Amino acid sequence: MSVQPAGSHFIHGAYVEDAAGAAILSLNPATQQEIARVHSATPELFEKAVESARKGFAQWKKTSPSERAEVLRKAAQIMRERNHELSVLETLDTGKPLQETLVADAASGAEALAYFASIAATANGEHINLGASFAMTKREPLGICLGIGAWNYPIQIACWKAAPALAAGNAMIFKPSEVTVLTALKLAEILKEAGLPDGVFNVVQGDRDAAARMVTHPAIDKVSLTGSVPTGRVIAQNASASLKHMSLELGGKSPIVIFEDAEIDNAVAAAMNGNFYSSGQICSNGTRVFVHSSILDRFLDRLVARTKGIKMGDPLDEATQMGPLVSRMQYDKTLDYIRIGQEEGATLYYGGNTPEVAECPNGLFVEPTIFTDVKDTMRIAREEIFGPVMSVLSFDGEDEVIARANDTEFGLAAGVFTSDLKRAYRVIDQIQAGTCWINNYNLTPLEMPFGGFKQSGIGRENGHWALDQYSQVKSIYVEMGDVEAGW
Ligand code: NAD
Repeated sequence: MSVQPAGSHFIHGAYVEDAAGAAILSLNPATQQEIARVHSATPELFEKAVESARKGFAQWKKTSPSERAEVLRKAAQIMRERNHELSVLETLDTGKPLQETLVADAASGAEALAYFASIAATANGEHINLGASFAMTKREPLGICLGIGAWNYPIQIACWKAAPALAAGNAMIFKPSEVTVLTALKLAEILKEAGLPDGVFNVVQGDRDAAARMVTHPAIDKVSLTGSVPTGRVIAQNASASLKHMSLELGGKSPIVIFEDAEIDNAVAAAMNGNFYSSGQICSNGTRVFVHSSILDRFLDRLVARTKGIKMGDPLDEATQMGPLVSRMQYDKTLDYIRIGQEEGATLYYGGNTPEVAECPNGLFVEPTIFTDVKDTMRIAREEIFGPVMSVLSFDGEDEVIARANDTEFGLAAGVFTSDLKRAYRVIDQIQAGTCWINNYNLTPLEMPFGGFKQSGIGRENGHWALDQYSQVKSIYVEMGDVEAGW
């Protein structure tokens, strides 16, 4: 099946092709077949995107927040109307089951567009009383923002960046991951149909080299990355040469702490969601599951019973609950970690194999995998795997588990399960993570800011905080009296 877009890039309201750039193949992870082929942006093509964004920004920054909201609201509506088509495309591109993409990808993207439409006009400044005179503050957009996406939630990431950027009056050039090049182009189509002026949202494709060049372009005022910690470090270094604004949404190795008084079925469900949804390819996953030793056996019995029921299969079949991994690289990396875990002495308690899926013989499937007897020092408990691999660790004391949960360079997310709300809050309060859940896991309502502490990132997406990340404050002093001079 081919889903070839009309051009590799979307610039100034139209698809653009430039075959001079290196080819980027889009493979369906369920079949390994090529479904599209695009080209990485050459410096000349990126220059066109920048020129267009300059024009787009000049027009867009003059619009009122209510006018911007109108466009975003319309785009959300179109995206919802096209949800099925967009979900199928996302499934073909990422391998995630349609059962998931129908509710979690374009649907979340549409929510972001609608949410930022609803708060765009609330982001006003303040009046500061200085006695006879006064000052005021106003928010201004940053200019041209470069969004760089990861491959696990392609259209959602594009929307989570574009919606606040556009609501705040910026232009955005979005570069999708080279692994999933397709759906950001659809967002550009939809925004145009919703009435967005040409140039305000452009999409360019790019491999790592092309992306690195984009980051240093002098016309770019802000870089917003969703990606891994090593990429975040390189981008921070490159963007600092011209002191660009920056948001970094990076990786994690997040803890879920399950106390002896937790509702165990809820804790099991959350641990499964936080390790196996999207075949484990979620940045905020709770891949270190700390279970109180007194309930460990009970927890594992229920966890395995439910994990056995997970239906792997053709991602386009709506009955399929778990699809393949996104790419050969991610598949090999996951299998490497499963081997490393065993070599380190952890017990491979469940899974770990590459199942044959009759409908997709070449699919990159890895079973949901559970390790027990995991020690904090093992690589499977310290490094981000980004596959369906759960490490279960046991603990006895509250202070002990807080210290162990915090013993990581990451700080993206954390979860606590207990029936004692005081304890839940006391524990979460001491955990070094930017996004936390009590008695649930991995829910990301648009109203709630999302992002990491420590090496997991800088800045926040979603909530009103995201508008702050895409605007700057201008202070204006207004003199109501005379100017005094001492000479
Ligand atoms: P990655 O870091 O390999 O690539 C991310 C993006 O950065 C891609 O578009 C890539 O082309 C680009 N890139 C790579 N090198 C670059 C450079 N030098 N300059 C500019 N751009 C460059 O990450 P990935 O494999 O696509 O995604 C998985 C990672 O993303 C995981 O670590 C995951 O935790 C993280 N992630 C984080 C969040 C979050 O919100 N915190 C969400 C999803 C994924």
